[in-house]
Amino acid sequence: MILDLEPIFNNEGMVREFSYELDLSAQELSGAKPFTSPVKVSGSAGNYTGIVELRAKADFVLEMDCDRCAKEIKVPLEMDFFHTLVTHLNDETNDELLLVNELRFDLDPLITEDIFLDLPAKFLCDEECKGVCPKCGKDLNEGSCGCEKEIDPRLAALRQLLDD
Ligand SMILES: [Zn+2]
Ligand SMILES: [Zn+2]
Repeated sequence: MILDLEPIFNNEGMVREFSYELDLSAQELSGAKPFTSPVKVSGSAGNYTGIVELRAKADFVLEMDCDRCAKEIKVPLEMDFFHTLVTHLNDETNDELLLVNELRFDLDPLITEDIFLDLPAKFLCDEECKGVCPKCGKDLNEGSCGCEKEIDPRLAALRQLLDD
């Protein structure tokens, strides 16, 4: 969505609210395309005593496979973003500030980047997910399989000692 920042930069006290749906269905995450439904984005850009602030909220559901058992899961996420917008940088080292080159500002790349930076590193159907057996592939959440457990080689050596 294009946000016209010109009236906001030029008028102290001016606040514009926005609310729209962002289609990220083409975006890939670890080989999958989990954004099966649009991201609801809402927020505001406002000039507060000369400082232009952008606040946004993204609300969406990811359809992912559990990292351990590969079961398909739906992960509802809600994220909040905040940026201070400037049209020129006095201090190049301040990365709190977002430099706006174009006053007709396209929100989509920024929100997309914000979302990706904020995504969890792991997706699990349950914190306690037991995953699948590495030998037979059985879902261990549904009960244990008949496979012998992998024994830590150090433990195996110890057992050997005790047996002798
Ligand atoms: Zn799982
Ligand atoms: Zn097994």
